[in-house]
Amino acid sequence: MDRAAEAILREEIFQHLKELVGDTVVVTRQQLWDFNLKGETYHLIDRNRGIRNPKDMLATLSILSDPKSKYPDEEVGGSLFAYAYREGSVDGDNKKLRRALELELPLILLRKIADGVFVPVLPVYVVADDKPNHRFLIALDESLRSVADPINLQPLEREYAQRVTKQRLHQPEFRGRVLRAYECRCAVCHLRHAKLLDAAHIIADGKPNGTPTVNNGLSLCKIHHAAYDENFLGITPGYEIRINQSLLDEVDGPMLRYGLQQMHGRPLSTPSRARDKPSAERLAERFAEFQAFS
Ligand SMILES: [Zn+2]
Repeated sequence: MDRAAEAILREEIFQHLKELVGDTVVVTRQQLWDFNLKGETYHLIDRNRGIRNPKDMLATLSILSDPKSKYPDEEVGGSLFAYAYREGSVDGDNKKLRRALELELPLILLRKIADGVFVPVLPVYVVADDKPNHRFLIALDESLRSVADPINLQPLEREYAQRVTKQRLHQPEFRGRVLRAYECRCAVCHLRHAKLLDAAHIIADGKPNGTPTVNNGLSLCKIHHAAYDENFLGITPGYEIRINQSLLDEVDGPMLRYGLQQMHGRPLSTPSRARDKPSAERLAERFAEFQAFS
């Protein structure tokens, strides 16, 4: 396959993968292994290694990044994503990744969020081979491909790169983890429709305690997310749903009556795993805000 044909094939694979991932933003190892495009099967993940180098492709197709792995993949000072050389592995691993840089072929970054579960980030681009530090630098966004010196970003580029990292890496990962923990259901009304669900923060992102961890998250439908953010709806540290008194006193149509008023006093649905349950301390902090508003 020549470079042009491979670029087109990659584009088709990416498009189809995006559709497969959809609003849950996650994909399983099996789906990546059995990936089907126009009757052909493509393995988008390697069986054993953290890099997928298809024999009949010129360059690496996907790289896997596991926050818990021994490889120190990282976000370099909040700038470009760094992917460590695969030490001691087949030389072809690094060679084919270098080819992706030379041929400017986009690839897939698979971020592992649980055993056999990944949030794919795509397309991403290899923009530098940082030999002294044994790593490749990966741009998570098209416009970061053109920076003059990927290893030493200018302040404005760095700021932009940080924003991109948040949008393309951290937010989808948070969404993937939260929706998965809540089995794709609203914690208040049990609505099961990924398109209508958000991964809400208990303590807002950017505040102390506003970590992107599942115990600072809630899977909420759009209306209950907005109601929670606006303090029309509160959640006690004991996982009980409360509705603002002024809203309880109001008389209006079915959304107010069934969607909000009837939720008052109901228990919140929480994830089955203890460490995924909403942190009582954070809920208490937010509930104090709700009470002050009421
Ligand atoms: Zn809901």
